Amino acid sequence: MKNKTTAKYKIVPEVSGNRYYFFCDISGALVCITKPYKAKSPEKELLLAWEFEGKEHFNKCHKCGNWVTNVMYNADVLECVNCAPWEAKPNFCKFCGEAVTGDEDICLSCGQHLRYQGSDLSA
Ligand SMILES: [Zn+2]
Ligand SMILES: [Zn+2]
Repeated sequence: MKNKTTAKYKIVPEVSGNRYYFFCDISGALVCITKPYKAKSPEKELLLAWEFEGKEHFNKCHKCGNWVTNVMYNADVLECVNCAPWEAKPNFCKFCGEAVTGDEDICLSCGQHLRYQGSDLSA
């Protein structure tokens, strides 16, 4: 749907230019504070701050276009956790194929983690 160029941000003006505060689109967490930038237009300035400093801290959801931090990103499918929540409870271990019958987080057979990291997010 939406194709956002940058994550949520706030501008904090300083004598030498504008600092940009970039926030995770989902959690709202402050992710990055840039050094002051000065450009001819606000659009250009935002892009400068984003390209040079902000972008590297974010992942773009390929579905909804939100920019999110690593913890809010399901890297297996390149989507944010809103679009692709971590598996609630797998039926089979994806590493060894063992059936998962209980509520365990770790495969009783091979010891691998059954869920994506951060699956306790909803707790
Ligand atoms: Zn998404
Ligand atoms: Zn296993």
